[in-house]
Parts: sequence; structure tokens; C-alpha cells
Amino acid sequence: MRFSDDDRSVLHFFMADQIVDQSDLVDILAKITNENASAADCEIVIERINHQVEKFCQKIVKVTCELTGQKSFALISTAAAPGMKSQFSKEQIAYFHALMDSIVQNEGRIDSITAINMASDATDGKVTVSNAESQLLHFVNKKLLMSDGSNYYLSPIAIAEYGSFISAHYETASCAICQKMTIFGQQCASCLAILHKHCLKDYLRNTAQAKCPSCQNAWQFDDF
Ligand SMILES: [Zn+2]
Ligand SMILES: [Zn+2]
Repeated sequence: MRFSDDDRSVLHFFMADQIVDQSDLVDILAKITNENASAADCEIVIERINHQVEKFCQKIVKVTCELTGQKSFALISTAAAPGMKSQFSKEQIAYFHALMDSIVQNEGRIDSITAINMASDATDGKVTVSNAESQLLHFVNKKLLMSDGSNYYLSPIAIAEYGSFISAHYETASCAICQKMTIFGQQCASCLAILHKHCLKDYLRNTAQAKCPSCQNAWQFDDF
């Protein structure tokens, strides 16, 4: 498989932004190649790039955001040890791991106050309450966490990089529709099945009655 200058240009986009929307990638590819591009063309380019970057323990994967349902491609680390970027300090890694632990065990989110208050304990006092907020912002800027103003969630990049670590260390729910690991999802009030918000939306869009795909009871929309 020949790695062209066009492929290299696409790779540069990923190295700069790490995550690119599926639809944006079609436009980027069209601009770079000066030709019409399709989603299938993107897949072919990604495959050639992956062939090149696998030796550096990197891979471009398809991800879907658990919050927005946005489908993207993300450049992730495939290193056996959960891949933290080398620019993170030991304390930052310890803090992120504690946050991730709490998020995974608390239905996929952590409120800002709890996140700030756990910094000191997680880092033997090295990250204090007063600088925890800027650390959290740093994790958001590095696209590992997402924030809606009151809670923090794992980003699609974090879930892709830590997915096998998380499923090896925690009992996570599988989405009743796509069967994939679900960190932050919607729960059926009747049968307690967990579903990705985006999977549920797609499902309800294609069905006449708003029923849980698992137990067929009426879906409670309170959480939407
Ligand atoms: Zn799903
Ligand atoms: Zn149900």
C-alpha cells in the first residue's frame, strides 16, 4: 500500500486536532486531493495511514460521542499500558486515573465539585483544590474529558484509548442496541437496560411507538 503525500496531509490534520468529524474528513480529503471524495474514500485513506502509524502504537479509529452522538475519526494510542500522553506529569496521570475511576463507577459522569475535591487525595497533595480546576480544563483541552458546565464525562478519545483497560477492570454496561461498552448512557426505568443516547434516538426515530428495545415497555423520556 503506497503512502502518498495526500495521505500524509490527512495525517497532519489528525496530528494537529486528534479528532476529526466524519463529514469534515470528506471535505478535507476533497480539498487535499482536489477531487470529489466519499466516506468510502476516507476509509481507504485511513487504512493506509494506519498501516504507517501502527509501528508507533497509533491508530485512527471511528468513535461516537456518548453525549452528542457525533461520529468522528480519532487518532489514539494503542500502547498496552493505557496511553497517557508523554506531556502529562505523574500527578496529572494520577489525577486523571482517579477521575476516570470515579466517572466509570458513577454512571459515566462526575460533578465539578467532587472532581475538584478529589484532586488532593489522588495526587498526595500535589494537585491542590485551588489548581484542580485548571488541571480539569487542561484535560478538557487535551480532549480526554468533556464538560457540560456541571459535570465531566470521558471523551470519545479517552474511551477509545482506555476501552480495554476499563473493560478489564470494571463491570461496565453494554448498550442494549449496539452491544458496545457504555460509560454514559440512558437507562430504561422498567428493565434497567442501558443504552447509548444516540443509539436510542436512532432506534426511536425508526419505530412508531416509543418503547424500550429491550423490554418493550413505554420509554420514559424524563432523562432526554
Ligand atoms: Zn449503543
Ligand atoms: Zn426496558
